[in-house]
Amino acid sequence: MKGSREVDAPNDIRLIDLAKHYGEVRAVDGVSLEIAQGEFFTLLGPSGSGKTTTLRLIAGFELPDAGCVELAGRDVSRAPAYTRDVNTVFQDYALFPHMTVQQNVEYGLRIKGVAKGERRARAQEALEMVRLPGAGARRPSQLSGGQRQRVALARAIVNRPRVLLLDEPLGALDLKLRLEMQSELKRIQTEVGITFVYVTHDQEEALTMSDRLAVFDQGAVVQVGAPAEVYEHPATAFVAGFVGTSNLLERDGRRFTVRPEKIRILAGEPADGLHVERGRVKDVSYAGPLTRYVVALDAGGELQVVAQNLETTSAEALEDRGREVSVAWRPEHTSAIAGKEEVS
Ligand code: ADP
Ligand code: MG
Repeated sequence: MKGSREVDAPNDIRLIDLAKHYGEVRAVDGVSLEIAQGEFFTLLGPSGSGKTTTLRLIAGFELPDAGCVELAGRDVSRAPAYTRDVNTVFQDYALFPHMTVQQNVEYGLRIKGVAKGERRARAQEALEMVRLPGAGARRPSQLSGGQRQRVALARAIVNRPRVLLLDEPLGALDLKLRLEMQSELKRIQTEVGITFVYVTHDQEEALTMSDRLAVFDQGAVVQVGAPAEVYEHPATAFVAGFVGTSNLLERDGRRFTVRPEKIRILAGEPADGLHVERGRVKDVSYAGPLTRYVVALDAGGELQVVAQNLETTSAEALEDRGREVSVAWRPEHTSAIAGKEEVS
């Protein structure tokens, strides 16, 4: 899928060895990325890993110390922000409080000198797209957080930019609203076909929404891939630890990771082809739909194991504490890890 898209669609964004330093801090430290037209591409990483700075370099709010930003094949590294065909949506919405929703959405078009009738129509269309068709006359203060974020989105897409940059746009919303807005954003992106570059530190959000994602660590991209690729085959121990929970084991001098949900605690004889180890259940926590186990392995190391509570009750799960068990997983569910870094 990824391959065909890259052949079919030209790159909308190309970053070549991009660097931005603030004194001693290497905020962005040699980032190279290619983002295809119409792609939902996520920059995922912990706080301070350089995501926002990368976005600001793409938008032109910052100029790079080294490297290159290309938009639709054109080198814009030194071009002023207003000449770039991108719009940005921030976490704090940045709506104008003294304007109505309609005026907020029309703002960019007014600056561009678009005639009143067309402005009205396009703003209305954008408000329908974000499912706020009747809210034009209201002021931002009369809207909920989620509605304000929709207005901010309408204000950006009304300009029909080639690329939309979104910096943790759902960060201020509570969990339920965030989940709802995740699928809304995805729907809108699919409908308008604009390239989205989405910044988040939330791995689940990144896995749910993205066509592809880049994992950032200390100003550098450590892995790029589709969500399942990155999750199932993390390239480094950092990725394994940051994107989901993972177990890091060393056997015969080889280091590898295996995800908690890929491990089963065996009741009877193991099936063929599984890697099996003996251990003791050190800890059990019952969490409704699933139970989490910590198993200390006889051969050294500890495993986090997650099991769905298909048949198990809370009492049964908790009785497993202290028990000698066999644990098993498919060899193909492990990922070899190079280097000597620790899982974070
Ligand atoms: P993220 O968005 O991933 O949290 P940022 O790109 O905001 O990371 O920041 C990366 C690093 O650069 C951090 O260490 C941050 O403190 C530093 N930084 C970002 N902007 C500035 C600035 N204007 N001046 C000095 N340091 C900055
Ligand atoms: Mg940031």
